Amino acid sequence: MTMSRLKSFPGGLHPNDSKLATAGLPIEDCPLPPELIVPFSQHIGAPAESCVHVGQTVLKGEVIGTAKGFVSVPVHAPTSGEVIAVEPRPHQSGRLLPAVVIRPNGRETWAPGLCCAVPQELTPVELRERIWQAGLVGLGGATFPVHVKLSPPDDMPIDTLIINGVECEPFLTADHRLMLEAPQRILAGIRILRRILRVQRVYVGIEANKPDAIALLTPLFAKHGIEVVPLAVKYPQGAEKQLILACTGREVPTGGLPMVTGCVVQNVATTAAIADAILDGRPLIERICTVAGPGIATPKNLRIRVGTPLQHLVEVCGGLTCEPERILMGGPMMGAAQLSLAAPATRGTSGLLIFGPGQLPVRPEGPCIRCARCVGACPSRLLPTTISAYSRLDRYDDAEKYGAMDCIECGCCSYACPAGIPLVQGLRQAKGAILEKRRRG
Ligand code: SF4
Ligand code: SF4
Repeated sequence: MTMSRLKSFPGGLHPNDSKLATAGLPIEDCPLPPELIVPFSQHIGAPAESCVHVGQTVLKGEVIGTAKGFVSVPVHAPTSGEVIAVEPRPHQSGRLLPAVVIRPNGRETWAPGLCCAVPQELTPVELRERIWQAGLVGLGGATFPVHVKLSPPDDMPIDTLIINGVECEPFLTADHRLMLEAPQRILAGIRILRRILRVQRVYVGIEANKPDAIALLTPLFAKHGIEVVPLAVKYPQGAEKQLILACTGREVPTGGLPMVTGCVVQNVATTAAIADAILDGRPLIERICTVAGPGIATPKNLRIRVGTPLQHLVEVCGGLTCEPERILMGGPMMGAAQLSLAAPATRGTSGLLIFGPGQLPVRPEGPCIRCARCVGACPSRLLPTTISAYSRLDRYDDAEKYGAMDCIECGCCSYACPAGIPLVQGLRQAKGAILEKRRRG
């Protein structure tokens, strides 16, 4: 497989992928912690609302938080046990946010009424309804409710489904292991998605640094008319717009939704979870998470329950090798920095990475030397240095004119900058201010 022949996108970077420590490790079941902390805010959109009370016994898969609106999903009990608190708890956002705290009773008693189905016997509308009831969100980290993505407006006909098996963030290997260990589940999910979207053309994009997954899935999926597309190893190859461009040559226009290209993208783990929800009636209460980084004694790929405290994940992986200086939920490029290990893993937690002193490169910030490396690295073809400068001056209208809203917050500009300027923070701030202004009308 020659790298130059592989499909890709303009811009981007080649950070060391650092996946060797866990890429060959089979997924292990993480033991249940003494307490599960299940936040209501685990997805993009309106947080769910509590429907349980302290002292109540809940069953595995039971709804403990109801969805509030179309862009929202219900939240379910990850195991059976007693509700010991419904109160604000540490959240990955750094704030205290409402959560249900469950003390597991160890019986793993499933809630009644979770029913299996034969996809061919359900209409697309019924399948979408079940996906919503199961609380499915994008498991690649974006946590966008799946049923919304599967409801394209009439003026946006969909002809292509793209399954995202790229996993371009360094260190993370959860999707890689899932592709090796559960290909039939992914295939079953694709068949359901095909039925809902009424599409035949399906691509599965996988970076070429996973040759075992490409070799396994290519012949298996080819029998079902599904094309595995090996992609260049480049960050952010797994970003939605970049993946669509690489697989189909179609470009999402400025300010447009990915759907306008006729494509719907779903992550491989999300696709397997769709099969779990429809075929087995299982709501989204667990996921695969890579726990790694030089600060972790024994890195692992773990199947974790939603709500497992980060501290518990560290203990299951043999503890820390050093005082943690940087704790990241997700990958090193787009992950969320954590203040401590008190927050729980949620539906979007693809990884937990720990770095000690001196284990992550830190460049002291200096003046811009006009080298344009940030421009060359930007996959959205923006001028990060210009937009970031406007953001620092609170000139958000100018930042918007220069396309700030097309920024996908990939962090390539900051990573490439030899002057150590935190460009992505400026972009994020500008986007926040522009959105706030739009909300106020
Ligand atoms: S964070 Fe935004 S501006 Fe920076 S490289 Fe990524 S898309 Fe471009
Ligand atoms: S990469 Fe950094 S130093 Fe170079 S132009 Fe961009 S902001 Fe300036």
